[in-house]
Amino acid sequence: MIGLKNQKFSLSALLMPERSALSGASIVTRFAPSPTGLLHTGNYRTAVFAYLFARQNKGKFILRIEDTDKIRSKKEYEENIIESLGWLGLEYDEMYRQSERSIAHKQSLQKLLDQGKVYISKETPQKPGDRTEVIRFKNPNKKISFTDAIRGRIEFDTTELGDFVVAKDLDEPIFHFAVVADDIFSGVTHIIRGEDHISNTPRQILIYEALKAPIPTYAHLPLVLAQDKSKLSKRKGAKAITEYRDAGYLPEALINYMALIGWNPGTEQEIFSKNDLIRTFSLDRVQKSGAIFSEEKLRWVNKEHLKLLPAEGREREVAHWIFNSAQAKKNNWNREDGVLNRLVPTLIERIETYGDIQTMADAGEFDYYFAKPIYDSKMLLWKGKGELSATKTRLEKIISLLSKINDKKFTAADVKSAVWDYAEKEGRGEVLSPFRIALSGKEKSPDPFTLSEILGKDTTLARLKKAVEKCI
Ligand code: GLU
Repeated sequence: MIGLKNQKFSLSALLMPERSALSGASIVTRFAPSPTGLLHTGNYRTAVFAYLFARQNKGKFILRIEDTDKIRSKKEYEENIIESLGWLGLEYDEMYRQSERSIAHKQSLQKLLDQGKVYISKETPQKPGDRTEVIRFKNPNKKISFTDAIRGRIEFDTTELGDFVVAKDLDEPIFHFAVVADDIFSGVTHIIRGEDHISNTPRQILIYEALKAPIPTYAHLPLVLAQDKSKLSKRKGAKAITEYRDAGYLPEALINYMALIGWNPGTEQEIFSKNDLIRTFSLDRVQKSGAIFSEEKLRWVNKEHLKLLPAEGREREVAHWIFNSAQAKKNNWNREDGVLNRLVPTLIERIETYGDIQTMADAGEFDYYFAKPIYDSKMLLWKGKGELSATKTRLEKIISLLSKINDKKFTAADVKSAVWDYAEKEGRGEVLSPFRIALSGKEKSPDPFTLSEILGKDTTLARLKKAVEKCI
């Protein structure tokens, strides 16, 4: 690592470099992922910050796919990046692939070669297959400093870098050179990227100087850490954005949560829409130290965003998840709108993500709402004891009590008050247990009053009558 020296600095001076001091309109940021694997939330956090900063300043946000590693770059990863940004709603103003600019890279390299700023260096191969020639940068060996928007003033002596390699040959620049050439080409004013790139900055600044281009403002973001405080990675359980999408998370929740990884608004507010974030975000409130990714917090943020959605759209989505569950398809669930309309509002209270609905379906929680319960008549006996004839009498009594309730007022509270006195007198377990089994066929289910309300009067009475028939 290079000797880094942080000092206090004036923020307004560094966020507005001279050439953009008068108008935010010239601000350009970029997200420059390499499509060599599935990107995870830690990677997309960089995109979120670069996007928010560009939009806040009415600037441009560019997507550059850094696909120069021909062996490791894969089309499917590039497609996943495009799909993820699209789903998140992080729209970019321009997109290009680094590989499409190879002619321009070659021309820039040639120019530096002609000017003697880089040179062809004869190499002694260390192992078979190694190159005998590379292109090296003629290091002026000087002190350089830059003011990072997050980390403050950073100084270094480039002598320790030696004459570093910038290209294998004229057709194959290495990473540092291509990044700088492309950032100059795109007019990038603010390079917002992960802290792991700090050590690349000295070399890159020397290349900017050699190409006589203005040095952009750098903002190196703190690392996103896993729970064990190591760098977040797929191995540490980090997921791709599309995995969250498929697990029923909301894009606005992901953006909100990612914005909070390493940034805070300086207030108690934690729930932000994308537009709120565009208004509130600021680089000077980004912390220097690493920030831990918490799936639990993300789920909480998702739930808060779920609550903000209009009821109608939310309920349509819940219904979609219920009827697309494996159980619905396997058991041919009957889409009974009355049941659905009564079930969904209470269900919404219990979920953090739409994906929780699949988990509940797997646990059999909807079986009794959309299909007739299947159970053995012995289950109608409270604790397996007593006679079915006694159960039959009790179920008939429940039927007669419920029949008196007004069709329009068949709520859990009405059902409860209709049968409560009887249950108290006869024994709660003896009355309520067969009542529950008649409706759900399961010992573990919501209480019979809630079940009655959701199933509705007709279905409730029909199931109770069916139970009576089983009491022989
Ligand atoms: N392609 C680099 C990466 O995926 C980013 C380069 C940069 O932001 O300067 O880490």
